[in-house]
Amino acid sequence: MATQAAPRALIDPFGRTVDYIRVSVTDRCDFRCVYCMAEEMTFLPKSELLSLEELEQVCRKFMAMGTRKIRLTGGEPLVRRNIMQLIRNLGAEVKSGNLDELTITTNGSQLHKMADELVDAGVKRLNISIDTLDPDRFRSITRWGDLDNVLAGLEAAKKAGLAIKLNAVALKGVNEHDLADMVGWAGAQGFDMTIIEVMPMGDIGNENRVDQYLPLSQVRADLSKRFTLIDSDYQTPGPARYVTVAETGNRLGFITPLTHNFCESCNRVRVTCTGQLYMCLGQDDNADLSSALRNGGEAGLEEAIVEAIGRKPKGHDFVISRRAPAASVSRHMNVTGG
Ligand code: SAM
Ligand code: SF4
Repeated sequence: MATQAAPRALIDPFGRTVDYIRVSVTDRCDFRCVYCMAEEMTFLPKSELLSLEELEQVCRKFMAMGTRKIRLTGGEPLVRRNIMQLIRNLGAEVKSGNLDELTITTNGSQLHKMADELVDAGVKRLNISIDTLDPDRFRSITRWGDLDNVLAGLEAAKKAGLAIKLNAVALKGVNEHDLADMVGWAGAQGFDMTIIEVMPMGDIGNENRVDQYLPLSQVRADLSKRFTLIDSDYQTPGPARYVTVAETGNRLGFITPLTHNFCESCNRVRVTCTGQLYMCLGQDDNADLSSALRNGGEAGLEEAIVEAIGRKPKGHDFVISRRAPAASVSRHMNVTGG
């Protein structure tokens, strides 16, 4: 009897092993953050989405090819209908040791009702995006979000035992003076925190990236007036560089796509809710896993993934400048997720 060939591990042309996928399970969201979307957004027709079963099939194929970590993102992943089905099935793989981790990036709006279920399904950590603790500014940044609801979600997640990392995007003249309070608050709550530079992705209507862009070198200098930031050896294959905040003992990460190139150690690729595989967050090249799966089945899917990883670029070309105010990458962040 012929033995089946073992699936191939995924190593890109620069020798980086790809063992981490981020899956954007929906492009829809219940917020309209000013740096992420225009207020009037046209979302993908539901008919174009991969079903939850197909998304799971794609995740399982990557797992068979060495993926050890999956992050679900979006849009807002927790607003996709029946998303717990996918979370439970992938969580079972964490419980049985086939995956190291299943994590979720969320705006926190659904956590007050979903936190316990997530823990039960096998999720241990969440990234929760929150850019300010000021209710009015929170509303103006997210346009549709309610800070009290998100704080209730954070509380529920903490109570359920989830490890929490806060993500805050630094916005010039908007939340820049809130970040120090957030660092103190996160420390008091026992949450790690990452501050992110705004990335030039997608048209954001009347908002202007150049006006939003705040270099994190400046944020760090401002935080240093209030906190002692100690450079940390802590490293993940991800883009953040970490310090320890001496006063709280918590970790603080800085993601600086524009001022610091983080690509050398990139171990991840991204799958959208329509099955496009993006090999780099900051490039448009992609592969259509949806057609590969629907026309070629498991073998077609594997072939398409291997071929795409062979095209993973060395890095991104993000730039924000007055001379080039348009987005470097035309798709919005909610398509590929953060
Ligand atoms: N809706 C979820 C959330 O907000 O956490 C998950 C998807 S969201 C696209 C993922 C992360 O990307 C969030 O932390 C968000 O703040 C960040 N983000 C969105 N657009 C961005 C941009 N243009 N530049 C930098 N970060 C961005
Ligand atoms: Fe929605 Fe997250 Fe984008 Fe905000 S950042 S609009 S919460 S997808």
